[in-house]
Amino acid sequence: MPVSSPNKNMTILGAGLVGSLLSIYLKRRGYNVDIYERRPDLRQAGAYGGRSINLALSDRGFASLKRIGLDDEIRKVGIPMHGRMMHDVKGQLTYQAYGKDGQSIYSVSRGGLNFKLMDLAEAEGVRLHFNLRCNEVDLAEQTLHFEHGDTRQKMSLPYERLFGTDGAFSALRASMMKTDRFEYSQDYLPHGYKELTIPATPEGEFAMEPNALHIWPRGHFMMIALPNPDKSFTCTLFFPYEGSPSFSEINTPADLMAFFETYFADTIPMMPALVEEYFANPTPSLVTIRSFPWKYSDSALLMGDASHAIVPFYGQGMNSGFEDARVFDELFEQIGEDWEQLFSAFQLSRKPDADAIADLAKANFVEMRDKVADADFLLRKKIEAKINEKYPNVWIPLYTMVTFSPGIRYSEALARGKYQDGLMDQLMAMGNWYEQFDSPALDLAIDEIVAKYHFQ
Ligand SMILES: Cc1cc2nc3c(=O)[nH]c(=O)nc-3n(C[C@H](O)[C@H](O)[C@H](O)COP(=O)(O)OP(=O)(O)OC[C@H]3O[C@@H](n4cnc5c(N)ncnc54)[C@H](O)[C@@H]3O)c2cc1C
Repeated sequence: MPVSSPNKNMTILGAGLVGSLLSIYLKRRGYNVDIYERRPDLRQAGAYGGRSINLALSDRGFASLKRIGLDDEIRKVGIPMHGRMMHDVKGQLTYQAYGKDGQSIYSVSRGGLNFKLMDLAEAEGVRLHFNLRCNEVDLAEQTLHFEHGDTRQKMSLPYERLFGTDGAFSALRASMMKTDRFEYSQDYLPHGYKELTIPATPEGEFAMEPNALHIWPRGHFMMIALPNPDKSFTCTLFFPYEGSPSFSEINTPADLMAFFETYFADTIPMMPALVEEYFANPTPSLVTIRSFPWKYSDSALLMGDASHAIVPFYGQGMNSGFEDARVFDELFEQIGEDWEQLFSAFQLSRKPDADAIADLAKANFVEMRDKVADADFLLRKKIEAKINEKYPNVWIPLYTMVTFSPGIRYSEALARGKYQDGLMDQLMAMGNWYEQFDSPALDLAIDEIVAKYHFQ
């Protein structure tokens, strides 16, 4: 039970990535912090859902971890991915760097990062309560209603200030949805996903280049793979539920092998447990959730996936949730304990950015599954890198703004990216840059286009 010193007790729903990080920020501000988590303490099982699941952590996430001094430690255990490695249907590879000067995103273990944050939170005095699923939040009475995961025993607890970091199907958001003028939308992609594994080779090595994010772009679908510290790769097949080809057509091991032989033949020798994993693993869906407002009076606030769940194609869900927590903490520094004003400032500041990254993530699915295999697209990327090299303060590629530039808001990145796209269309029409890539003509065209750059 929280100790009762008025206005000093913070309650967090969900000890996931965002809730655990937020708890440390709040604890360091001098509050008593209690987190209630639906699941048992997975640290005791030593594994996170039994499988090796990784996430791409990039500069926005690192900026938030830096605030609690955890960035270097996580960087050391993560695996840097400097670019995309595209696999075509014949198994031929094309590499494209993500940024310049070794800029990288990092493959980190979801469980490892979550455990580390929970350990640090506990070490600093945050109280974690497991196996308690919140079924309802009585917003008017400021009371939480829980059910114990094993005993099914019900219990209710009062709260002073509540943070809902309980993920895409948030209990706090569900209760807020019953209030007047609460806006909510969810839309599912026609695709689901399947996680598969490329284990380490018999010699104990990575079976593919470890410092890259691997992509098998196949038009309407794709597979990706991120490296793990045990030298395996976690692969994710993003594939339509219905149509042809789709999950609905793969019902037997023979169907599966025929599909893989057609589209992902180079992976078959690297996936000894393909059939077992494919039929054993679930096929989760992919949803974008938007909501508003994120606050209820000055007593409750949504953050992370609970307020804005996005599809994973920009690798920014966790990063944006971490950024939520950091922006909140920065606003706290300016506004202090005027909670109504603080919550208002937070939601007004973050909503446009959450909407922007939701749109960017959807658009990046098309880019990853389709465009990265396209010669025109690759040429555009090469030219953009050249412009950025020549005019680093004017022209920043969209991917760099989103992934490596925490100082640029997502909403600004989206707007500038659209603007730059228009200029790139003009530039591409000014010459045959396949043939003239190294010619002075491209330099002149770049100068001419950059002279037009007037983004407000
Ligand atoms: C396939 C896939 C790949 C992804 N890859 C990336 C990536 O590469 N990079 C990236 O930045 N993001 C990625 N994401 C997104 C990322 O996983 C989420 O954005 C991130 O986990 C959100 O963190 P969160 O703490 O808000 O929510 P969650 O991680 O979902 O945590 C919510 C916590 O609340 C608990 N909880 C839920 N309901 C209740 C309840 N009623 N009562 C009590 N506790 C409750 C849950 O058990 C959980 O511990 C990916 C997502 C998917 C699906």
